[in-house]
Amino acid sequence: MIKNAQIHFNEMGTPVADDFDDVYFSNDDGLAESHYVFFTQNQIEQRLLNHDQPHFVIAETGFGTGLNFLNTWQQYDRLKQSHTLPRLHFISFEKFPISHADLSTALAAWPTLADYAQQLSQQYPMALAGCHRLEFDNGNITLDLWFGDVHDSIPSISCQSAGIIDAWFLDGFAPSKNPDMWQQSLFNAMADLSRSGATFATFTAAGFVRRGLQQAGFDCKKVKGYGRKREMVIGQLPCANSYASTPPYYQTSCASLSNVAIIGGGIASACLAYQLSKRGIKSTLFCQDDALAKGASHNRQGAVYPNLQADHTPPSELYAHSFLYAKRFYEQLHALGFEFAHQWCGVLLQAVNESKSAQQQNLVDKKKWPDALIRPLNALQASEVAGVSLPYSGLFIEQAGWVNPAQLTDAVYAAAQDSGRAKANFNTDIERLEHSPDGWLLHSQTQVFGPFSDVFVCAGEHSDRFEQTQSVALQGVRGQVSHIQAGDVSSELKTVLCHKGYFTPAQNGQHCMGATFDKDTKSREVKEQDNVTNRAQLNKFYGQTPFAQSLGEISGAKAAVRCCFADHLPMLGQVPDQQDLTRTFANLRKGKHYGFEALSEPNKGLYVVTGFGARGLCSAPLTIAHLVSSLCNEPRPLSERVHQAIHPNRFVVRDLIRNKI
Ligand code: SAM
Repeated sequence: MIKNAQIHFNEMGTPVADDFDDVYFSNDDGLAESHYVFFTQNQIEQRLLNHDQPHFVIAETGFGTGLNFLNTWQQYDRLKQSHTLPRLHFISFEKFPISHADLSTALAAWPTLADYAQQLSQQYPMALAGCHRLEFDNGNITLDLWFGDVHDSIPSISCQSAGIIDAWFLDGFAPSKNPDMWQQSLFNAMADLSRSGATFATFTAAGFVRRGLQQAGFDCKKVKGYGRKREMVIGQLPCANSYASTPPYYQTSCASLSNVAIIGGGIASACLAYQLSKRGIKSTLFCQDDALAKGASHNRQGAVYPNLQADHTPPSELYAHSFLYAKRFYEQLHALGFEFAHQWCGVLLQAVNESKSAQQQNLVDKKKWPDALIRPLNALQASEVAGVSLPYSGLFIEQAGWVNPAQLTDAVYAAAQDSGRAKANFNTDIERLEHSPDGWLLHSQTQVFGPFSDVFVCAGEHSDRFEQTQSVALQGVRGQVSHIQAGDVSSELKTVLCHKGYFTPAQNGQHCMGATFDKDTKSREVKEQDNVTNRAQLNKFYGQTPFAQSLGEISGAKAAVRCCFADHLPMLGQVPDQQDLTRTFANLRKGKHYGFEALSEPNKGLYVVTGFGARGLCSAPLTIAHLVSSLCNEPRPLSERVHQAIHPNRFVVRDLIRNKI
């Protein structure tokens, strides 16, 4: 687990890191120094005005108080008044994130940045290792905050093209105070991630830093330092090298996305339309129902919380960061006036039996997660948090809660439509996909739509209905959620309870309770027997409690099919063609270091976005942001290991490596 920085403020009010005994910025006008050293010496202004891509990417070593970021954002805003600019993507690495309170105190020193500082402070994440993607200015500004040592973070970045970074702010405490950071491996990694022509600027003039950057491939020169400082170093990488962390069998190639079709009407489709619209990309959605969210996204109250294991595994990393991103996204939408019923009331995972209790104890003992994310409560504390008496201890995810999935889906899609770039065709059942020379054609029984440059199949359990998607090994699991009338005690419940199923705080006098798991049917009919099962399960764990005893009758139910894969992870990317993959990557049977053939990609431009199971509210926003970032050749928010874990080729690659196919 990473630690927050220990800091104090010196007599000038400048923050000082206790562990490094160094200031975060200069005592004499740190803002002016930041502007001169990093912004001016990288020539960011001129380059923003003359950029060759829709996004300009700056990477920084050491986020600290965020002063560099905020200054860059302010300058960007100033330029935006009179120019059309690329979107700004700022990546910053931070080993010891300063606490939220220290961030606010430190930034209070800059009244001219107050507006920006307040927005940063609102989204500033907890000290959890990995990439936190923050978005500002209606998606124009992206901040990827990679918490953890830069030496660990850079190798975990998912990257497959000839560089992703345009400019480096090589900050960090002075080399003499922080020698571990200023290593050749860092300079080499900077070169690996740089585009041709990428620049760097650093406040230090230390000879070994300049020589190290030269050795990594940068042309370096000394220039006048800020104020009384004699020198600093700047430089440029003439030509990107061929580094890629993503191997060829897990590539996600850039796409034209010039005319996009989305098949499906759930939360995934809405998030996709939203991500595309933020990049100025138009989409047309096709939904077989007469409105959005009639499939798996149609419960009244869906719990939004991360599924965490004791260890920092790829699935846990995926869900932890997905959850934090989803919550920021939903809160932003709500703040913009897109309404949906929800409550960030926490989710309490109850240790209802011995095996759950042991699992939870294991998670607590391993101490891999910050308390701000998940923390243990004994039965008494759990009861206090819940507002009703509970017989079990548990793990409390305080930031979690529930949302109304259908209203949320409408809200996300309305935000996408606000841009004028998303339109929808309802009551349109797409039955067949045709890859014509002009692009993809979508056939319903009576009409042909297209051609489209790209088609995204986000159709839940129907995603494998097309000839091209048939081999996607989807599993459908039917689930029924029952609605039960609240009683006087149960109305007091203040948090979502998870036992084997879940139980929500009352909304409009009803709780949601469920859900059943049924692998053998895809029926969406409500079954009386499933209501009985849901009630029996609640009674099994809580039958003796006053809240359960106060409950009234079951008044309704909803059933849907959750769509998932054998490894319980979603799948996002180009639809794999098993024959093509097996032929191209045949050498994987011998090992990873033998050459590969070229892919013929019969499904180029056709993607699946599915398999979210019961966790789409949590995992759809970030995984879809990751897919769209990859297709647009932008920095990706998920690490390489998570990229691979959700990649559609994973099952074929696994079987080739194991020599099973
Ligand atoms: N750029 C910051 C700003 O605008 O406020 C100031 C950065 S401060 C001088 C240096 C930062 O580098 C500290 O926050 C420190 O924790 C971070 N740092 C030091 N070593 C690091 C490492 N190995 N990986 C990532 N961050 C590191």
